[in-house]
Amino acid sequence: MRDPLAGLDDEQRAAVTAPSGPLCVLAGAGTGKTRTITHRIAQLVAADLHRPSEILAVTFTNRAAGEMRVRLRDLGVGGVQARTFHAAALRQLRYFWPKVTGGEQVRPIVEQKLRLVGSAARRVGAATDVATLRDLASEIEWAKASLVTPSGYAAAVAKAQRDTPLDAEVVAKAFEAYESVKNDAEQLDFDDILLNTCAALDDDEQVAREFRARYRSFLVDEYQDVTPLQQRVLDSWLGGRDQITVVGDANQTIYSFAGASPNYLLNFDRRYPHAPVVKLERDYRSTPQVVSLANRVIAGTVGPTSRFRLRLRPVLPDGPEPVYTEYPDEAAEAAALAERCQALIAAGTSPAEIAVLYRINAQSEAFEQALAAAKIPYVVRGGERFFARAEVRQAMQALRVAARAGLDTPADGRAVALVPATRRVLRDVGLTDAAPAAGSLRDRWDALVALVSVAEDLAEADRTAGLGELVTELEQRAESQHAPTVEGVTLASLHAAKGLEWDVVFLVGLVDGTMPIQHAESPEEVEEERRLLYVGVTRARRTLHLSWALARAAGGRKTRRRSRFLNGLAPDALPMNRAGGRTAPGRCRFCGGPVRTPLEIKSGRCENCPSTADPELVDELKAWRKNLAGEKSVPPYVVFTDATLYAIAERCPTDDAALLAIPGIGRSKLDLYGADVQRLVVASVQRATASVPTAEKISVRTSG
Ligand code: ATP
Ligand code: MG
Repeated sequence: MRDPLAGLDDEQRAAVTAPSGPLCVLAGAGTGKTRTITHRIAQLVAADLHRPSEILAVTFTNRAAGEMRVRLRDLGVGGVQARTFHAAALRQLRYFWPKVTGGEQVRPIVEQKLRLVGSAARRVGAATDVATLRDLASEIEWAKASLVTPSGYAAAVAKAQRDTPLDAEVVAKAFEAYESVKNDAEQLDFDDILLNTCAALDDDEQVAREFRARYRSFLVDEYQDVTPLQQRVLDSWLGGRDQITVVGDANQTIYSFAGASPNYLLNFDRRYPHAPVVKLERDYRSTPQVVSLANRVIAGTVGPTSRFRLRLRPVLPDGPEPVYTEYPDEAAEAAALAERCQALIAAGTSPAEIAVLYRINAQSEAFEQALAAAKIPYVVRGGERFFARAEVRQAMQALRVAARAGLDTPADGRAVALVPATRRVLRDVGLTDAAPAAGSLRDRWDALVALVSVAEDLAEADRTAGLGELVTELEQRAESQHAPTVEGVTLASLHAAKGLEWDVVFLVGLVDGTMPIQHAESPEEVEEERRLLYVGVTRARRTLHLSWALARAAGGRKTRRRSRFLNGLAPDALPMNRAGGRTAPGRCRFCGGPVRTPLEIKSGRCENCPSTADPELVDELKAWRKNLAGEKSVPPYVVFTDATLYAIAERCPTDDAALLAIPGIGRSKLDLYGADVQRLVVASVQRATASVPTAEKISVRTSG
């Protein structure tokens, strides 16, 4: 096991080493809360305060739980459960329910909820269109998460001043009908899993005793998003004990609409007056430029979470300023994004280190299309689950059979290392040495390679791990749907991005009506949207692009406005289109950062900002140069060096002054080649404006 105290600052260490009683860590994004909670788990084990099997770590999304498990494994801690509330409760329920009921199995989980809600709505004479059913379903979820019964619904809505699209009486009736339809179908919904877990623990002493002997320490990440129902489960788990560690950031509360409340986090010290409260301020994730923007986004907040104003303090070296770009329409926004991704990948950024984050899932389509057209691999978080895919199921089966047959431990007693053993098994289901060309074979291959990388991680963490351990690890991941990362740009909603981080983040679609979302009307709802933007900004380690489009359809009317949250942050339109932007000497024309190398100086672009050169123009310029050099019997670089050539393609100079502004082009070269170059550039710009109206696109640097 690695030293749990290594790689921590003083405050983090104080939290990690606090006694096993209650502890609260209140801190902003990227300050190391998740690191602290995982190291604390390691420390509880290392200091012999708890056995790994007594510890239960919970969080809210499968992805976050998966992230915690990976970090625990990297620390060399095995046997600790890290799950979502639901997964943990379901597991417990499966074990305890037969005991509570004298042999009954847990009912199956509702799969088609809208259908049940539909029957309920019909029964009470409510509308049954999909939009209404969705609204009904989310109201029922909110009510159950808030521990509200059908008869208490109307009063609870009034008390919470909840803005609901439906009449409270209608919802209450439909809610009641839904419960009975569901019971008749002998099914459980997700909230029932939690409710029944509480019931089993609260009502059955024997079950409670057994549970409490088994689990002795509880840790909750992202505690700002706990609902009253989840808090109830936590209380049942604890049963009056106080071995509870919570970490959270009130500024990242993004599930209030579903009943979550940061008050449990903010009032933890009242409930446990003897609990140490640790605050972390140093942001280890992001550059000062990103941190500064994050601080400014959240500074505008009002309401209950503003009581807890936290400023993040940057500690990392400088990076590029965030880049703001306005586009005429969504297609142009998506096309430019794909272009930037291409440039980043060409310059060595791994696609897995790039994320495109949006407010609602439906926004992904335009970006998926653009990335696919540019042949850039991507993964949609919340797309088809990795472990549901046929090739993955087949591969797992092959691994299971091989593990059972002991393929990695042959009779001569010399074990085969896990990674080669895995490769050998997967070869039979289609793993080849070289990647096949695009298509379904390639998809299968990518999936198999992803499984090999799980084996690699596992072998690294535990050198004695064999195929059996690999199968267990994969099954655990499958259960929680935590797909291994297939190398690709991540497309995800802001909600799904919580807790995660990437080198490069694109926040797209930042227009009023989407961010904040149209239906956020009350000040509280608008504040939740602001926190979502804060979550988005704080996902970036280094490079952050914020963009919006003025029209939805290409060529459509420009009726949209930039998100109000960017007022005062994004500069007001400073047109700097690529056909002739003004550049301050020594500064990158995109981010305003310093330019140092000859190539950076020539192109007026720092290496962090992707190239905007039109590849066709580059080819044309090269052909022209080759011709000319041939005519003059000189080497091509005598005409223009590569750096100058690329600088021309990037900066698209269309007049003499713009040409002279490119270092390396003086009067004599202007006289010799100026006319030719401008002719080629103008043709390229015209081409670009004809396909996507690029000339309207502006790219400006932040003011602060
Ligand atoms: P979020 O609020 O977004 O969930 P967090 O507070 O949980 O963020 P972590 O994910 O734990 O933050 O840490 C952010 C990044 O900073 C991670 O890459 C982590 O490894 C790194 N980090 C945290 N603490 C330290 C430290 N003391 N030294 C170096 N790096 C650190
Ligand atoms: Mg975290």
